[in-house]
Amino acid sequence: MPDVTFHELVINVGDIKQWAYCPRVVFYHRFYGGAGVPTAKMEMGHAAQLKIRELITRRSLRPFGLETANRKFEVWMRDEILGIQGRADLIVSNSSQLAVIDFKLTGGGVGRNLRLQVGAYTLLAERDLGIPADRAFIFRIPDNEILPVDVNAALRAEVIQAAADIRAMIMEERLPPPTPNRLRCVDCEFANLCGDIW
Ligand code: SF4
Repeated sequence: MPDVTFHELVINVGDIKQWAYCPRVVFYHRFYGGAGVPTAKMEMGHAAQLKIRELITRRSLRPFGLETANRKFEVWMRDEILGIQGRADLIVSNSSQLAVIDFKLTGGGVGRNLRLQVGAYTLLAERDLGIPADRAFIFRIPDNEILPVDVNAALRAEVIQAAADIRAMIMEERLPPPTPNRLRCVDCEFANLCGDIW
């Protein structure tokens, strides 16, 4: 049992993203510790990060719905009321609106896990800056595509619910159900702990 109350437990945005992929991964990371495989972003070299920054810095912000705005990279945010914390890749903002931009280093579409991730960062950024947002964006690096995500009431509610579900899982130390998508299990670092699914 953690040494904090339910409401003091602050959930990482990365866990909210992972929860949508497979809730058990969040459980194993929490209770079995550092067996994690580095993510593509973690493995990305400093030079590559600088290249992405340069690309974004030169790029017009019009596709993000903002003509003129400030760009802030790797913004750490924590909000005790939301009970969420995390580091957004990029936030662009002016005095009346903001948009969170997440860098996707692989191809493919925007799954529920990514939508929850940018939704969570948007909730944090709105509270941090006191500026509203109605959309976030995935910047897909391999083909330079910008994919918008509506940060609507349904997505906001999903983020809050996912954080509450993770909090309850941690407090109760309860193993969640496995992902219904068993293809995800094939290369999972925790496959040996999930004996019941094979
Ligand atoms: S093996 Fe499958 S169910 Fe188990 S943690 Fe991995 S992805 Fe989830």
